Amino acid sequence: MNIKPYYELFEEIYERVNADNEGNVAAYIPELAKIDPEKFGVYISTVDCDKSSCIGFGDYQESFSIQSIVKVLSLVLAIKSGEKLWDRVGVEPSGSSFNSLVQLEFERGIPRNPFINAGAIVIADILLNTLTNPEQEFIQFVRSLCGNQNINYDLTIAKSEKKHGYRNAALVNMMKSYGNIRHNPEDTLDFYFKICSIKMTCEEIAKTFLFLANEGINPLNGQEIITKRQNQRVNAVMQLCGFYNEAGEFAFRVGLPAKSGVGGGIIAIHPKQYSLAVWSPRLNEKGNSYRGFRFLEEFTTETSSIF
Ligand code: GLN
Repeated sequence: MNIKPYYELFEEIYERVNADNEGNVAAYIPELAKIDPEKFGVYISTVDCDKSSCIGFGDYQESFSIQSIVKVLSLVLAIKSGEKLWDRVGVEPSGSSFNSLVQLEFERGIPRNPFINAGAIVIADILLNTLTNPEQEFIQFVRSLCGNQNINYDLTIAKSEKKHGYRNAALVNMMKSYGNIRHNPEDTLDFYFKICSIKMTCEEIAKTFLFLANEGINPLNGQEIITKRQNQRVNAVMQLCGFYNEAGEFAFRVGLPAKSGVGGGIIAIHPKQYSLAVWSPRLNEKGNSYRGFRFLEEFTTETSSIF
């Protein structure tokens, strides 16, 4: 689909949202607190994936730490491995914050879903089993989805998070005590911090996630990443759990499967239509990008007759 005729409409939404500077950069990971809060990038690609079907605005070519956005890719890789997952992690919205401890003890070490930190840590633990060279194979998976060999971890961010990651250490240790972590908790956590640190641009994220808008097939090269059924399930978990304790609000105002990260990024999927990545590091009080959320709300409202 040629979306160039809508350039001005999209640009007008971008400019309007850009003028709004509510929210604050994540400070609990010191390395993330150094990011310029005014950064704002947007990239949309429809599933046809040719030159006329992509548009970017602002800082869409600047890379940033994708943080929790990666949890979708680790889930996809775990699903691909065929390993049994769903007795170790649930698929229900948590209704609590992404790093909450309370619910985890109550539910005896089985995280509500794979997108809260505890759930993503269990998925990281599973990947340590299924991959021979986890760090190398994981980054290679992301690179091949995107068609870009330069995507990499940011070790400074991973180290910074490890140094201050007391809460995640508490989560992994609690799950270990319930028998839901197979490896040394520190090894599992190191792998989790590493994958969260991956740096990508909005353009790269939108391209990487396009297969989720295309029934599991990467439109960049025709490769099947997951089956149509598996794809529907990943999108369902994104729709229900991608925004933690704001998932209902996000579904109410935007209505797309999406995933946010504390780096300020959001990926949203419109099945059979497009993938859209937004980046703005100012977060709301639930830890989701303020401008990103607002952009997606206005974008989906104003393009409802186009897509
Ligand atoms: N690495 C971050 C953490 O574990 C990811 C959280 C997020 O992006 N919401 O706290």
